Amino acid sequence: MNGRFDVVVVGAGPAGSIAALVLARSGARVALADKAAFPRDKACGDLVGPRGVQVLADLGLRVPDAGQGSDLLAVGPSGGRARLPAFTGRTYPGHGIIVPRLALDHALREAALQAGAVPLRARVTAVEAGADGRVEAVISSDGQRLAGEVIIATDGALSPVARLAGMLDPQAALWGFAIRAYLRAEVPLPLLVLLDASPWRIYPGYGWLFPGADGQANVGIGVGLGSDRGQAPLRGDLARLVALLGQYGDLSQDARPGPVMGGWLRMGGTGTPPAAGNVLLAGDAAGLINPLQGEGIGPAMVSGRLAAEAVLADPARAAPAYTEAIEAAFGPYMTGAAALQRALLRRPRATSAATRLLTAPAVRRAIAGTWSIYWNGLADGARPRPSAWTARAVQAAAGRLAGHALADPPLHMSRHADAITTPQVAESIIGEKSLWPRANRQRPASRSTNASWTMSPTLSGVCSAAGMCRIGYPYSPPPIHKRSAWPSRRWRAKCTGSGSGAGGSRSRASRRCSPSPW
Ligand SMILES: Cc1cc2nc3c(=O)[nH]c(=O)nc-3n(C[C@H](O)[C@H](O)[C@H](O)COP(=O)(O)OP(=O)(O)OC[C@H]3O[C@@H](n4cnc5c(N)ncnc54)[C@H](O)[C@@H]3O)c2cc1C
Repeated sequence: MNGRFDVVVVGAGPAGSIAALVLARSGARVALADKAAFPRDKACGDLVGPRGVQVLADLGLRVPDAGQGSDLLAVGPSGGRARLPAFTGRTYPGHGIIVPRLALDHALREAALQAGAVPLRARVTAVEAGADGRVEAVISSDGQRLAGEVIIATDGALSPVARLAGMLDPQAALWGFAIRAYLRAEVPLPLLVLLDASPWRIYPGYGWLFPGADGQANVGIGVGLGSDRGQAPLRGDLARLVALLGQYGDLSQDARPGPVMGGWLRMGGTGTPPAAGNVLLAGDAAGLINPLQGEGIGPAMVSGRLAAEAVLADPARAAPAYTEAIEAAFGPYMTGAAALQRALLRRPRATSAATRLLTAPAVRRAIAGTWSIYWNGLADGARPRPSAWTARAVQAAAGRLAGHALADPPLHMSRHADAITTPQVAESIIGEKSLWPRANRQRPASRSTNASWTMSPTLSGVCSAAGMCRIGYPYSPPPIHKRSAWPSRRWRAKCTGSGSGAGGSRSRASRRCSPSPW
C-alpha cells in the first residue's frame, strides 16, 4: 500500500500503540505499521510498573491483566531478602500489573485501531528524505511507501528507523540483553534476584521470578553490556538461576522452563536523541529502559503519549517540544541511573558487598522504602515521606556522579531538538553518518554553565564510554502539557473539511475530529 498520513507510527508495541491511539482519538490520520502479525509475543517479564498503569487509567484503557503486583522482594547474593514496599505517589498508583505481552500488546493495538489508526503490515527498511532533509516517508521491504508529516519511530531497542535516519549511535548506547521463559509455579510476590557471578563478584545483571495467570510464572535473566552489543549467551545462567530458586524454595526442584525468548535492551536514554527534524523516537527506540531494574513498558507508554501530545500541540514544533518533555520526564533519573549502573558494574566486588549489606536484616528495613522509590524511578511524583526525600537525595547524588563520569560539567545535549537541524538529518541520511556528535559540535555556547558545547574528541570518548551521551538535565521546570485546542491550523482545516489531503471529506473529517474523550 502507498499512503499519505498525518503521522506514520512504526512499531506497534506499547509505545507505538499508545502514540497512535492518542493521535487517532484526536482525529489525526495515523498509520500504525509493524513487521509482525498480531497478536505477537515479545520477550518480557510482563510486569507493567505504576507509571504504565497510570497511563492506562488516564486513557481509560482496560487490559486483561493477570493480577496486580505491589511490593517486590529483592533477593541478595547471600539469599537475604528485602521487601521493597510500593507507595502510592502523587502521579502514579501504588501497584503495577502483570499482563502477558501477547495480550497486552494486542489489546493496546486493538484500542488504537478502534480509535481510527490504520493498521499496516510493513517491515520498514528505508527512509526517504526530502530536499529540506525531513523524512518524508518510510519504505517497507515489499515496496510500500508510507508518507507522513511526522514519523514516530517506536520500533524497539535496535530501532531501524533511528538507524536509517542517522539518529542512532550504537557506540554511545548502554546495551543490555535479557531472556525469559514461562514455567509452572505459584509466586506470591515478584522476586528480583541479585546474584554473584562468582563468590563476592556481582553478576552484571539480575534475575527475576514474576507471578502470572493460572499458576504460570515468568522467569528470566538479563545483563548489562555497556556500549558493546556483543553476544550474551544466557541460557546457562537461566538454568543456574532456576536451580538457585529451587534451593531457596521459590521453585520446585523439578521446575522446567518452557521455550526461551530473548531481546535487546537499550537503557538510560542513551544512543539517540529523542527527536530530530520530523522524526520522534519513543519507548525502546529512544533507549528509555531503566538501567537499574530493566523496566521499559511504562516508559514506552509514557513517551508514546508525550510524542503524540507534542505532535497534536504543533506538528511543526513537535521535535523540540517532545525533547523537552522527555528530558523533564526521564532526564533527572535516567542520567544518574545510567552512571550508577556503569559504576556498579565496574566494581563487582564492592557491589556484591553492598547488595549483601542492603539485604541484611539490620539494614533492609531502614532502606527498603528509599531503595524501592529510587530504583523504580519513582522519586519524582512521590508523595512527601522520608523515604521519598532520601530517594530524591540519592537521585541527585547519582546525577552528580554522572557529571563526574564525564570528567567535566555535564553536556546539556538536547535542550532543544531544533538545534539538530533538518539539513543534518538529510546529510546523515545521505552520508550514513550519525548526526549525534555533529549536533554537539554545532551547539551554541551554553548560557548557564561553563560547559562548552564543543565536544572534544577525548570528552566524546569519555561520554561514549560512560554511555551517557544523550540526556541532559532540564534547566527549567517540566513543560506543562497543554493539549492543543485541536492541533495546528493546517490540521484543523482538515477537520472542517476545508483542507486538502488526508481526511478531505467533511463527514469523515467531522467524525474524526470529534472531541477526544480524555
Ligand atoms: C527478556 C525481557 C524482559 C523484560 N521485562 C520487562 C518487564 O517485566 N517490565 C517492563 O516494563 N519491561 C520489561 N522489558 C523491557 C520491555 O520489553 C520494553 O521496554 C518494551 O517492550 C518497549 O516497548 P516499545 O513499544 O518501545 O518496543 P517493542 O515492544 O519492542 O515494540 C517494537 C515493535 O516494533 C516492531 N518493529 C521492529 N522493527 C520494525 C521494522 N523494521 N518495521 C516495522 N516494525 C518493526 C516490532 O515488531 C515490535 O512490535 C523486558 C525486556 C526483555 C528483553
